[in-house]
Amino acid sequence: MTFNDLNLIPAILKALSKENYTTPTPIQEQAIPAVLAGKDLLGCAQTGTGKTAAFAVPIVQLLSEQQMRPNTGRHIRSLILTPTRELALQIADNIQAYSQYTQLRCSAIVGGVSQRVQERALKQGADIIIATPGRLIDLINQKHIDLKHVKILVLDEADRMLDMGFIHDVKKIITKLPSKRQTLFFSATMPPEISKMVKALLVNPVKVEI
Ligand code: AMP
Repeated sequence: MTFNDLNLIPAILKALSKENYTTPTPIQEQAIPAVLAGKDLLGCAQTGTGKTAAFAVPIVQLLSEQQMRPNTGRHIRSLILTPTRELALQIADNIQAYSQYTQLRCSAIVGGVSQRVQERALKQGADIIIATPGRLIDLINQKHIDLKHVKILVLDEADRMLDMGFIHDVKKIITKLPSKRQTLFFSATMPPEISKMVKALLVNPVKVEI
């Protein structure tokens, strides 16, 4: 199988070819069609499996197709939550690459750097936000961020967010999102607290295990 067999739009195929991606990894083969079909996803996969593109490529496609319609202003339509700043910046880099031939804008919201710069980026508009929970909560509390238009939520490395003590923040963030949305949930392990969240958040998920 090649990326040409996955019903991707030309702008994405061009970007993937520029990045020298030719063959989808197993998780990408399974996840991309499911996410494009609007399904919730439960992925048990480690970093290094191509997990990022498995969710990011179909998100870029869904949002950029939606943007083709007139009279839709720029709102945050996808929120990706990750445990660490490094991971958030890496995902943001990847999304930048996959979306380079689209009109989409993405922005990383992480701790340890100037909040002012992030506020300015948010004011200019972003379609996709990749965030660590702490800084995102700060910006939500200060009303710099509006999550009412989020259509796709990604929880990446959910078990690590639990280990790092972020689960309370994550749950609080989720209460700010529309309940009608698509949710993609990734975790390498399934401790009881994570299984509980999976049951609460996902509707008939497609399960992808690598
Ligand atoms: P990830 O598991 O998402 O952290 O991806 C691991 C690495 O593999 C990253 O450097 C990606 O850019 C790269 N990668 C992901 N999918 C593919 C693919 N289908 N072909 C070539 N490289 C890929």
